[in-house]
Parts: sequence; structure tokens; C-alpha cells
Amino acid sequence: MVKFPENNEPEFIAAVVGKPIAHSLSPLIHNTAFKQEKLNWIYHAIEVSENEISECIAAVREKNIRGLSVTMPLKEVLIPHLDGLTETAKKLNAVNCVFWDGDDLIGDNTDGDGFVNALKSQLNEPLTEKTLAIVGAGGAARSVIYSLGKNSAKEIIVVNRSKQKAEKAACLGGPNSRVGNYEDLAACDVIVNSTPLGMTGTVTEGLLPVPIKFLSANQSVIDLVYNPIETEFLRQAKLLGAVTFSGLGMLIHQALLQFQRWTGKNASIPDIENIVSNAIDQ
Ligand code: NAP
Repeated sequence: MVKFPENNEPEFIAAVVGKPIAHSLSPLIHNTAFKQEKLNWIYHAIEVSENEISECIAAVREKNIRGLSVTMPLKEVLIPHLDGLTETAKKLNAVNCVFWDGDDLIGDNTDGDGFVNALKSQLNEPLTEKTLAIVGAGGAARSVIYSLGKNSAKEIIVVNRSKQKAEKAACLGGPNSRVGNYEDLAACDVIVNSTPLGMTGTVTEGLLPVPIKFLSANQSVIDLVYNPIETEFLRQAKLLGAVTFSGLGMLIHQALLQFQRWTGKNASIPDIENIVSNAIDQ
């Protein structure tokens, strides 16, 4: 049964829903942001399985829950239960954030724009001058490719195990986007791992998403995997001399965009990356 805490206004409630949910870092990020911005809000993690989605959305409406973050396995199945979608959520057919627009519950997807905001804060040159390789073509890759396309990245090259999925994902990036292979990586400014390879506690821990010989010192290498914060892929890229960034940037920026959707405010939390990485290291 889906259990939201009672809403004791003026304390507004937001929550992340999905299954499993116990290790989600979203409560830490959002509760830190609420505290920092002195907002009387609280954010919970609520376990919801696919067959509980109807009950979950009914509870959101009844209890006036002010915002939802949505994670696996609900990003697609909740769509028919909402009143509308943003253009981005429609394109991706996936929702990671639910907000109120008047009396309507609207689904959005902040993953890709979160990635782009993180990337812009890390790169010195505009995206219009950058060729990027996206390794993977699943949900994370699709959101990243779509936002890079919206931001007029110079070229987006999608490298994925299944070519058919790569073709579909590349379509989201618009005219500057195409399917490629390992040989294309050498000419890219930015390489992004958007496969789950390398994640702690899985059979792929320590594995590389692409052979390191295709990378070089003058590249920026990003891993969307953020546990461990420095994956083997990033460790080896750094040894080559490449500039590396963990998936924490995307994780934090997609959350800040959700925060903005719910509260209308831009949270600025200078030490959030340290706070989240300390929680991962524990
Ligand atoms: P997904 O939808 O399951 O897609 C996974 C992709 O990885 C697919 O394209 C798949 O290839 C490829 N892949 C999986 N195993 C592979 C293997 N052994 N060899 C080669 N390719 C493989 O997953 P997702 O939701 O996109 O998530 C991907 C990763 O991004 C996860 O680690 C997730 O935690 C992370 N993520 C991070 C953030 C963040 O904020 N930093 C946000 C979202 C996701 P096929 O198409 O051939 O099956």
C-alpha cells in the first residue's frame, strides 16, 4: 500500500517514488535545498511499485502532495495517470518530475537539461563548438541527446550496443545527431558514458563502457554512473590526462530543476556536491 505522510500545512510535502527507493539520494538533495532556502517543505522517499501507480497518483491528488520525483520503474507507466506532459516528457515518453499547474498534474523530465546545466558549468566553451559522443541509448542517454540537440551542440554521436536503439535515440538529437562507433570517439571533445557499466555492487563493477585506447588526453570524459564517484572508466581516463566529471553534476542539476518547478525558486547550494559525495562514501 502507498503511504504518504499526512500533509500538515504550512509544511508542504514532496517525494520521490519508485522501487527500490531506500538508497535514493534525492531526499538528501531536496531537504538540503529546502533548508537552505528556508522553505517549510519536507521531502520523503516512498516505495511504489508499477501496480501501485494509480493508488499513488490518487494519493498525490487527495493529500495535495506538492511535487514528485519519479524513478524506476515508474517513469513511463505513470504517464496515463497525469493530466498533461511538458514537450520534453512527451518527446522522451518518460517522466522524472511531477508538478502542479493550477489543478492539473503535469509530468516533466529534467534529466537532460540537468545534464546540460552541469556540463555548461564545467566547460569553458559553448556547446555549439563541441562534438559529443554519447555511449548508450537507454533512458538517460535519450534525455541527454534530446537536451544537447535543443542546445544546438555541434555534433552528437550515439554509440550503442544495439544499433536499432542507437538510431531511435539519435533521432531525438535533431539534424546534428547520428549513430557512430568506437572509431568516432577519437574526434570527440566530450565522451559520456550513459550505460550502467561500472556501477558499484553490480556484475559490471570495474568494467569499462568503451576500450580506453579510443580516448585521449585532450578530451572531457563524463560518467553518468555516480556510485562509485570515480568509476574505473574515469580513473583510467584521468590517467590518460583527460578531464573527468562524475554523474553527480547531472544528479544534482536535475534535482535543482525539479525544485524550481515545485517552488518557483532557484536553489543555490554551493557545498551540495560534497554533501552528496560524503553520503555515497559512507
Ligand atoms: P537503460 O535505460 O537500461 O539503458 C542502458 C543502456 O546501456 C542501453 O543503451 C544498453 O544497451 C546499454 N548497456 C547496458 N548494459 C550494457 C553492456 N553490458 N554492454 C554495453 N551496453 C550496455 O538505463 P538508463 O536509465 O539509461 O541508465 C543508465 C545509467 O545512467 C545508469 O547507471 C543510471 O544510474 C545512470 N543515470 C544517472 C543519472 C544521473 O543523474 N547521473 C541519471 C539517470 C541515469 P542496449 O540498448 O544495447 O540494451
